[in-house]
Amino acid sequence: MDNEIPKCPNCDSSDCVVLVNTAQKVGTAVGGTVGAAAGYAGASTGAATGAAIGSVVPGIGTAVGAVSGGLAGLLAGFFTGATVGNKVGEQVDRHIICEYRCNRCGIEFEA
Ligand SMILES: [Zn+2]
Repeated sequence: MDNEIPKCPNCDSSDCVVLVNTAQKVGTAVGGTVGAAAGYAGASTGAATGAAIGSVVPGIGTAVGAVSGGLAGLLAGFFTGATVGNKVGEQVDRHIICEYRCNRCGIEFEA
């Protein structure tokens, strides 16, 4: 599946060549942050619902319902966003930046 890995120009082998995944890391972080924010915003509805349901036990139930609803949205949003950001970043690394590093020689080169 990863047969797109180019050969190192120094040792003429692809065995130790890895994709430099800068954009992938950035994409994961950015995607996670944006996803968490979006998830939290989207979960305000869920939080309200949770608060309403929690209101059966007034006071504590309202707070717990609101927090757990918002937190669930935040976490779900974070993981969804991080996954999407990771995939987008990987595509950017692989097809746009195309920077590789040979772990045997320690050099970086563009494919
Ligand atoms: Zn090499």
